[in-house]
Amino acid sequence: MHIAVLTTGGTIAMRHSADAGGAIPVLGPAELAAALTVRFPVHTEELVNLPSSHFTLDTLCAIRERVAALVDDPAVTGVVITHGTDTVEETAYLLDLTVPGDKPIVLTGAMRTASDPGYEGYANLLAAVRVAADPQAWGAGALVVLNDEIHAARYVTKMHTLSTSTFQSPAWGPLGRVEGDAVLIERRPERRICTWRGLEPRVTLLKLCLGMETDLLEYEVARGTRGIVIEALGSGRVPPWWLPALEKARAEGVEVVIASRCPSGRVWDDYGYPGAYHTLAELGCLFADGLNGQKARIKLMVVLASAGPGMDVATLWKQT
Ligand code: ASP
Repeated sequence: MHIAVLTTGGTIAMRHSADAGGAIPVLGPAELAAALTVRFPVHTEELVNLPSSHFTLDTLCAIRERVAALVDDPAVTGVVITHGTDTVEETAYLLDLTVPGDKPIVLTGAMRTASDPGYEGYANLLAAVRVAADPQAWGAGALVVLNDEIHAARYVTKMHTLSTSTFQSPAWGPLGRVEGDAVLIERRPERRICTWRGLEPRVTLLKLCLGMETDLLEYEVARGTRGIVIEALGSGRVPPWWLPALEKARAEGVEVVIASRCPSGRVWDDYGYPGAYHTLAELGCLFADGLNGQKARIKLMVVLASAGPGMDVATLWKQT
């Protein structure tokens, strides 16, 4: 029985290179796991060694396939994934949404490279393995562990470009902490699993700003986009001049999900003016229910791919 550590690159695997003019991923799984093997039985394997800004949807699907296989392996008691911090919240949420079972799935990374003073990669990896080895993590869904905090994939987001305490769950706070050898999980969110049939790639994310015109939305509809997530204003509002373009998108069968550009909070409101929540609901828009825009995009890609002929996307969306 062992913990599987899957490495994918990111700053946790980087060192500065004079030739490259900056940090690049060079640490392989053996170097990353060197700090662990004396404490925990781990098997390490490398899937890719890339900055997470270089990941494609194929990379994401490959990570998902490998994690699902590891979760199914009776010899594996938990899975840890090392990952670049730029997009780890999207990978974590995809795993949370689509990998069934109770085995712990824990993602971690680092904000400083292995050539920086204060590299926190080993500490984060050790904490992640501690969480994956702990019975409390069973059934908690995918978790993101950095800076000794344990976050739910659904709520965690990268809040700061450089800080080692960048990962936060602005709406609800962390689920728990790692304190020395101890793993403390105070609460666990309800987990919702969606059938996995891959990712529908024709899904896009738009962010609304004051006075923004609808040309990007119209362009997306014209090029055959199947789903559009809009990071709308406040608790889910758009300018009134967006309503005709949204109506046209809906008439063409485009699924529209309203998230918020606020870093925290659900979408819902009681305003009576055009463009407010109820006018969007009347157009058949769906709502992100506290997911940020990038995670709502992942969910819409999963839901659109899993909805078979005659299946109602709205029902699937609301079930998960
Ligand atoms: N550029 C890095 C990445 O791969 C950042 C990090 O890992 O923190 O996302």
